[in-house]
Amino acid sequence: MRIHGIAFVIVGAIVAIYSYMLDSKSLLLFLIAGICFILFGLFRMLTSKKPKKTSYKIAQNFCSSCGTAAHDLQNFCHNCGNRMFHKHQ
Ligand SMILES: [Zn+2]
Repeated sequence: MRIHGIAFVIVGAIVAIYSYMLDSKSLLLFLIAGICFILFGLFRMLTSKKPKKTSYKIAQNFCSSCGTAAHDLQNFCHNCGNRMFHKHQ
């Protein structure tokens, strides 16, 4: 189960503000817990970012025979085996 980091920040902020508003020493623990939640949430947001899939900068070629998309480095169509013609060749 994945909980978004912002949820921890919001919960932490609510707990911290609520405990601060009540102004009770016994709630100092909640204030600390709230701050911890905020920090954890921020940390989670920073770390949970999925690395963006490196988009292929290689120009796509299309098979002249069947129209299947193929990478520029591919010499033969993986679908029909047709010889791929490259722009740079
Ligand atoms: Zn093909």
